[in-house]
Amino acid sequence: MRKPSDEISLDPRDWDAFSRAAHTALDDAIEFLRTVDQRPVWQPPPESLRTSTNDAVPTLETSFEEVYAEFKNTILPYATGNTHPRFFGWVHGAGLAGGIVAEMLAATMNSNCGGRDHGAIYIEKEVVNWCKELFGFPVESSGLLVSGTSMANLIGLGVARNSRAEANIRMHGLKNHARTLVSYTSAEAHESVVRAIEILGLGAASLRKIPVRADFAIDVEVLRNAITEDRRAGMEPFCVVGSAGTVNTGAIDPLDQLSSLCVAENLWFHVDGAFGALACLSDSLRSRLTGIERADSLAFDFHKWAQIQYDAGCILVRRGDLHRAAYSMRPSYLHNLGRGLASGENWPCEFGPELSRSFRALKIWFAFKEHGIRKIGHIIEQNCEQAQYLKHRIAREPNLELLAPVSLNIVCFGFRQPGLEAVESDKLNEDIVADLQELGVAAPSTTRVEGRVAIRVNITNHRTRTADLNVLIDAVLSAGRARTAAGISPER
Ligand SMILES: *Cc1c(COP(=O)(O)O)cnc(C)c1O
Repeated sequence: MRKPSDEISLDPRDWDAFSRAAHTALDDAIEFLRTVDQRPVWQPPPESLRTSTNDAVPTLETSFEEVYAEFKNTILPYATGNTHPRFFGWVHGAGLAGGIVAEMLAATMNSNCGGRDHGAIYIEKEVVNWCKELFGFPVESSGLLVSGTSMANLIGLGVARNSRAEANIRMHGLKNHARTLVSYTSAEAHESVVRAIEILGLGAASLRKIPVRADFAIDVEVLRNAITEDRRAGMEPFCVVGSAGTVNTGAIDPLDQLSSLCVAENLWFHVDGAFGALACLSDSLRSRLTGIERADSLAFDFHKWAQIQYDAGCILVRRGDLHRAAYSMRPSYLHNLGRGLASGENWPCEFGPELSRSFRALKIWFAFKEHGIRKIGHIIEQNCEQAQYLKHRIAREPNLELLAPVSLNIVCFGFRQPGLEAVESDKLNEDIVADLQELGVAAPSTTRVEGRVAIRVNITNHRTRTADLNVLIDAVLSAGRARTAAGISPER
């Protein structure tokens, strides 16, 4: 038995010293963001960092200052790079200065947002209510903050599946369900939709990938015919997933038409609006999303175009009762006492698979209050204008060609060298992207557009300026010319 005088805690022994060290860390963090454009966008993690993953678990204590110094020297310099104005890869948000502090404050409260009656729960409710308002969802709709759109798609499609089936899927799984449940999305939809269908036990083959039109949006007529054919073949269509901003090209499906089709066919209408849904914050872009307000469920991210620090996404479900019915579980240890801490209705844990949850809402609440949605909407417009600028610059360069229409903020293009075979051209463009990343000058990514490798520039970045796009184009041209002058290397 330990003596009371031997009891310990993990708090600092010297709070003043901790305070000094913590202030230093905060000052360094602010300086890191302030000077981000003076460093390479990305640099490869050094060998020492790669091998440190084999270090033994720390048994004894190390001072906070020492641990911090190790972080500052060996980890901080090797960030993804998405805080940099010339990060254009995938769809990454750039993060906010205020987010550094908001995350720190959430850590201070260390709230568990699975449920119960405490401040953080109300902030999450407020943020969800803001989102309902932004997207024109009714008051009886429900919402949950989640890690991102992958999780939001899974939760939304789970509600679609559970509320659809006459057999009690929560109890019996799919074994009592006579007909195959079939869902539809476009060939350009994000893989997280496929993954959700897989995890839900429906099987990836039950998700029909409907071809797209020339603008990369779903072909609604083909979709309509596919539904009819599946019904004729004895299957049970249950859901259509529309994209508000596809990951490859930023295409927006005709959401209004999809919604009408779903109403006529009695199908659940889910929208993957990971980044594109936030275009509703812009007065000039909002009309492009008409029909999103009719979705049965909507998945989107704050950590992309709203610039909130990772991770932060959201699922909204039009019928809150169906949402709750799909996930609610209140075992005895989560009993609502009616008063005290264990009170409050509609705990977040009843709307998704997670029980313990972080206070994600605080950084969103902070950012929306600090910047206001008008300014965030302005950034979104600015990024779309920058994408148009880039498109026009590409049109003026004989060595560059545009590979897809520029719908929102994504530009797919290629370095063109006459006389190259398709595979050589693909390799050249992949090499150009890797060259730029390794030089640290800019970080676009690649994708395939109609089978061809494209240099893909996504702008969801409030720090990007037009000058950064000029640097990018110049760097692509010089990398492309250097490689074609040197001859395409035959290996690979
Ligand atoms: C990023 C993205 C996703 C996945 O979202 P995460 O936040 O990364 O989980 C889904 N769909 C689209 C269109 C995306 O761009």
